[in-house]
Amino acid sequence: MHEFSLCQNIIEIVTDEFKKLNPQPRRIIKVNLVIGKLHGVVKENMHFAYEVLAKDTAAQGSQLEIDEIPIKAKCRMCNWQGAITNSVFLCANCASGNLDIEEGKEFYIKDLEVEEDE
Ligand SMILES: [Zn+2]
Repeated sequence: MHEFSLCQNIIEIVTDEFKKLNPQPRRIIKVNLVIGKLHGVVKENMHFAYEVLAKDTAAQGSQLEIDEIPIKAKCRMCNWQGAITNSVFLCANCASGNLDIEEGKEFYIKDLEVEEDE
């Protein structure tokens, strides 16, 4: 499961960012993540890995929200543009495999939601 290594990175970034916040909030409530479908991430595995790895870190007990971006491509042959839903990447118009992937490669933390100390 490559979700574990991805989650490891996310938690490192999130806990680092959290420590930098001033004043220090009480805890992390939610982490909003954007993942392009090209990464082949299984959401359930991601949530599981996150829960396991967040244990004993500042992210413990926080929620991971995953926003998935569909794969979109443009055909170099006929200029067709659209979503790729198959695991085989082919142009829906001319069936060429000569595509530019325009969306779906995203992988970043959009933001953190924290609980402020009153
Ligand atoms: Zn085409």
